[in-house]
Amino acid sequence: MKHEYNRIDKLTLNELITIAGNNNVYRDKSDLQSYSTDESTMAIPMYPEVVVKPSDVKIVAQILALANRKNIPVTPRGAGTGLSGGCVPLYSGLVLSLEKMNHIKRIDLNNLIAIVEPGVSLNQLDEALNQHNLYYPIHIGDMSATIGGSIATNAGGLNAVKYGVTRNNILGLEAVLTSGKTIHTGGEYIKCTTGYDFTQLLTGSEGTLAVITEIMLKLLPRPVTREMMFIPYNNLQNAIDTVPELLQLKTVPTGIEFIDNDAIKIVEEYMETEVPYHEQPAFLMIIMEGDSYDNVISHFSEIGDICRKHGAVEVLIPDDERAKRKLIDIREKIQPAIKKAGKSDLVDAVVPRSEIARFVYKVKEISRKYGIPVITFGHAGDGNVHLHPICSGIDEIVWTKKMPAVMQEIYKASVALGGTISGEHGIGMEKKQYLSLAMDKEKIRLMKEIKMIFDPNNILNPGKIFDL
Ligand SMILES: Cc1cc2nc3c(=O)[nH]c(=O)nc-3n(C[C@H](O)[C@H](O)[C@H](O)COP(=O)(O)OP(=O)(O)OC[C@H]3O[C@@H](n4cnc5c(N)ncnc54)[C@H](O)[C@@H]3O)c2cc1C
Repeated sequence: MKHEYNRIDKLTLNELITIAGNNNVYRDKSDLQSYSTDESTMAIPMYPEVVVKPSDVKIVAQILALANRKNIPVTPRGAGTGLSGGCVPLYSGLVLSLEKMNHIKRIDLNNLIAIVEPGVSLNQLDEALNQHNLYYPIHIGDMSATIGGSIATNAGGLNAVKYGVTRNNILGLEAVLTSGKTIHTGGEYIKCTTGYDFTQLLTGSEGTLAVITEIMLKLLPRPVTREMMFIPYNNLQNAIDTVPELLQLKTVPTGIEFIDNDAIKIVEEYMETEVPYHEQPAFLMIIMEGDSYDNVISHFSEIGDICRKHGAVEVLIPDDERAKRKLIDIREKIQPAIKKAGKSDLVDAVVPRSEIARFVYKVKEISRKYGIPVITFGHAGDGNVHLHPICSGIDEIVWTKKMPAVMQEIYKASVALGGTISGEHGIGMEKKQYLSLAMDKEKIRLMKEIKMIFDPNNILNPGKIFDL
């Protein structure tokens, strides 16, 4: 498969301007810079030639048809909060930013459905739903992410224990193919066994198959209250050993997170704050939602007993919004804190929940073997472990040389324990060299064939997930 693309010449640029309007076509270097990378720690910035910001599906269709005809690579982009280089325009060309398609088209109170454009952010949706006492339960660490991007990455986040991930909360999509044709998948119904499920195929396809232009989301009644507990432990194994018992509770927690002491230290520095019991090596953060404060707190007393039985040093329940916000911030700021602290890489592996402690100890072994510190935290309730090998106390050239072997060993360990290499951030450009550790040849061949059916000229987000 060829990887040579045409550049955007003057004629094509004028055609883009005719299609999208002069105000929606950007080509100055200063404008292009913010579309050259995402939030991943290792992505090397790559400037597009042009950024186009379409305002509706018809414009998307015309742009894709034009790019296909002219052999120009197109990289779809939401908010650029991705952590695997998914929206980095590896082959330059055109970045198709969906940011101006940011309208909530309909909130259907009778069917509990929202129809939204891809550029709507998770925050924006949450605010709108709040007015109707409704809820879309995907809560990720950066709520400025768009719905389109979260579908394309099958985002997971903090609430997955109770509500599942993005793919469990969508009913249908509108998407544009590289031919310029538009398809509609799923529908405003809950059940469907009518042929292959294209909604699920496009979810998590990382912008390689089609551009998502409209999303039909499943909504829920909004929980009245969302409370949390913060539980220090004197070792990680005890913290993780608590989780299976929590998952067997009749009222399952919304989220169960774990954080190691190195992550706490780095976030304390970043937030200029002191975390209670910060000297302890491991922490659980448990989130629970319910229909009244008293009801949730009554569950907390049972959960507290379970945690103490497993060796919790203390069980802390913040009693006002400020204290709650601080705890959530501690968890959500780990990622930016690590990024700010210096060079690091990011692993987003997932293992069976019972294997988290074994996996983390294996990673610590690898860390010692190579002399590379690794910070660990993540979603204990769903087995999704975030690991950051950091370049600290080690020469950068040495670190860079050692990292491929370190990453290889970490990914192999996750697969050996029955897991896989990405739980929620996607493969993007950063993990594609490790894909064969997690997927056999036959599955990779099928994925490539599917890609060729959707995008025979390989113009849509080329170089992501795999190379053709
Ligand atoms: C601090 C921080 C915390 C985070 N926490 C979490 C977390 O808890 N859970 C989690 O899952 N992720 C998390 N992320 C990662 C990120 O927020 C998600 O991957 C998110 O889904 C990306 O959305 P986006 O709009 O920024 O997409 P982008 O980064 O712009 O794009 C991501 C991918 O989607 C494709 N894409 C975007 N829009 C479309 C579209 N309309 N059609 C087709 N393809 C499209 C792009 O080509 C790219 O491959 C976090 C990121 C940060 C910075």
